[in-house]
Amino acid sequence: MKHSKMTLSAETMNLGFVKKVEQLSGSSVRRCFQCGKCSAGCPMRSFMEHPPNRIVRLLQLGQFERVLAGRSIWYCASCETCTTRCPNKVDLAAIMDALRKLSWDAQGPSKESLVQLANRLFIDNIRTYGRQYEMRLAAVFNLKSGKLLKDFMLGPSLFTKGKLKVFHKKNRNIGEIERIFSRIEELRRKGEAT
Ligand code: SF4
Ligand code: SF4
Repeated sequence: MKHSKMTLSAETMNLGFVKKVEQLSGSSVRRCFQCGKCSAGCPMRSFMEHPPNRIVRLLQLGQFERVLAGRSIWYCASCETCTTRCPNKVDLAAIMDALRKLSWDAQGPSKESLVQLANRLFIDNIRTYGRQYEMRLAAVFNLKSGKLLKDFMLGPSLFTKGKLKVFHKKNRNIGEIERIFSRIEELRRKGEAT
């Protein structure tokens, strides 16, 4: 029996989005042949609703909204195990990075993601204080996520061990840190940074 070679049409694949991911990540999405080695080694796999190989498959099938709306990309720890294990040189860690950027920029499907909220507050704290301010991070996260008492019982023991500080000094190099953030924003405006 004669078999014809099946290829996904540009329309099915939503080639425009795939090319954007490939450009941002510097890695091919289309090259993945679904061997699953990336997912087998991923330490965050159990937290993800779509394992890494399925993320690539969804992209190949043009279902990028499911990827951007999901939490998998935000649970990726950028450990690069997937990239190292891939027999086909797909840099999945870089693809995950690119997807987080696209999801962040879209402000859309994943804006409700608590992981994304935590990421945003973490960066805000660094910009404001020049270091992490755990008490503020936890308080604002609980407020914005509507989980007011989340981890409340951990507070006293962290407090007595000196891990939580009510007042926080800014990093003395805060001016330098602000310049870094401003520079990144400038490069982003010019399209030179992701
Ligand atoms: S290891 Fe590489 S080729 Fe295999 S499923 Fe993962 S990304 Fe695709
Ligand atoms: S980089 Fe992300 S997706 Fe890849 S193995 Fe690590 S946690 Fe999993």
